[in-house]
Amino acid sequence: MTWRATILTLYPDMFPGHLGHSLAGRAIGAGTWACDAVNIRDFATDRHRTVDDTPAGGGPGMVLRADVVAAAIDSVADGRPLLAMTPRGRPLTQARVRALANGPGAILLCGRFEGFDERIFQRRAIEEVSIGDYVLSGGEVAALVVMDACVRLLPGVMGAACSGDEESHERGLLEHPHYTRPPAWEGLAIPEALRSGDHARIARWRRAQSEQDTRLRRPDLVDHHVDGPVHSPSGARQQKKEE
Ligand code: SAH
Repeated sequence: MTWRATILTLYPDMFPGHLGHSLAGRAIGAGTWACDAVNIRDFATDRHRTVDDTPAGGGPGMVLRADVVAAAIDSVADGRPLLAMTPRGRPLTQARVRALANGPGAILLCGRFEGFDERIFQRRAIEEVSIGDYVLSGGEVAALVVMDACVRLLPGVMGAACSGDEESHERGLLEHPHYTRPPAWEGLAIPEALRSGDHARIARWRRAQSEQDTRLRRPDLVDHHVDGPVHSPSGARQQKKEE
């Protein structure tokens, strides 16, 4: 079954963008996933094909019209999740990505200008998604981010390159660091454990690195990870949990 992404955008030429290359691009050719971009402007009704108008109450910029956007949505709605890219949306997580990848695909609505007339969110079942706490000029790159994260999880896309499970964010931990040849470079050796050939020892080393890295770089993740709390050396976090 083909995973289908339908993008509603004012710039359909931006798709599939970088996803037409490398493994994701090959997977389009293989029929693993498909991408169709629909121009919101095709659903404008006046002769100037207007999709936006000035903000009610005044202020700078333009707002995408609810009636035009709704017509675009209704033309493609088929039960797939409908996601709008918005900076106020729920931050995208690997868990949400995995659920989307396990489904039939997604409809991705891209904003421009100041965003959408609020009434669209009251009249259509839309999940708002943010890709981070910064503001882009349009939702297209955000939609490509959502698609990229989903497509690489589809069966056959990454091949043996990634089982997915060990990667950063999959289990609420960051991934362990990687090394490859040459064994010594600018005076730096590959860590001894990785050269030991002892699989249990390698697994322990990676796990310890993964926990340490997460604690140092992303302490906010530590409390959420699925295998239980990572014990900080002082036991402070453990104590906090028990309080
Ligand atoms: N005035 C809006 C910003 C509009 S940016 C506000 O202050 O919230 C224009 C469009 O870019 C948005 O409609 C949205 O589709 C997209 N966009 C911008 N930042 C985004 C982000 N962090 N995540 C997802 N989409 C984003």
